[in-house]
Amino acid sequence: MAYEVSQQLHSVMASAKQFLTTAIADNRSQMAAINDVTERTGAGVDPKLLIESLMSELAKATTRATKLEVSFVEKSRELATIRDSLVKSEERAKTDTLTGLPNRRALEEFFRKAQLAAMEQDDPVSALLIDIDHFKRFNDEFGHGVGDQVLRLMAKVLREAVRDIDLPARYGGEELIVILPNAGLTTAATIAERIRRLVAECHISRRSTGEALPGITISIGVAQFQGGESMADLIERCDRALYQAKKTGRNRVVTEAELVPEQRATG
Ligand code: GH3
Ligand code: MG
Ligand code: MG
Repeated sequence: MAYEVSQQLHSVMASAKQFLTTAIADNRSQMAAINDVTERTGAGVDPKLLIESLMSELAKATTRATKLEVSFVEKSRELATIRDSLVKSEERAKTDTLTGLPNRRALEEFFRKAQLAAMEQDDPVSALLIDIDHFKRFNDEFGHGVGDQVLRLMAKVLREAVRDIDLPARYGGEELIVILPNAGLTTAATIAERIRRLVAECHISRRSTGEALPGITISIGVAQFQGGESMADLIERCDRALYQAKKTGRNRVVTEAELVPEQRATG
């Protein structure tokens, strides 16, 4: 937890404790005052006086209760603000700053859940490993800033092309991953092909001058999760398919099913 948030929380907790202690003490003294009035009821005291004492005690109690309520509302508001800033900082920790996509940490968390659900319900889960073709050349020719712009564009295409249940994420530098719950290899390959085509159809221009830039393509390796394996194992198989896509000309989707046994073997 961030230092300021924990300090803030500490201070609100301290005043909430103070507030409850005051409320308990107040209740005790009001009860004592009312008991005192009750005891005097049978002792031949003027009933008008008794009623007046009772009304005065109740009025005091109401004033105190109102004050406490105001303080309670204030503290609740402070707590809500702290909760919101915690939620925001958690989101920030799981988001890649350049693309706004979920980062590796978010990816691992999502994969763990998808993996469990897949194993419990015997549903398939697949993954796409996406790599920009000749990105180094593109950066060298047009500058890193324009390269960054391309990465942001990739993120936008990914967000639009995947289903609501999928998680597109930035895995590393120019490598993106999509986890596809409820998708076997064939569905995953169809989604991958859609993404590949959308990227190939994008027109890119330099933001500062509007100058048209050459098109960008991507290669995608697809693999299906096998019960019990780790995310690293799954990505490793995506990577072998991706390597094959690069070797056979780029701007292609290759699934692990298209690999011959030697290409599948751990190298
Ligand atoms: P290939 O088609 O074989 O994938 O060729 P490539 O040039 O894309 O492959 P390589 O892995 O050698 O190069 C990846 C490049 O991605 C290197 C680096 O310049 C670029 N890159 C990685 N992260 C970023 C980033 O955050 N911003 C920009 N602009 N470029 C990045
Ligand atoms: Mg790469
Ligand atoms: Mg590349």
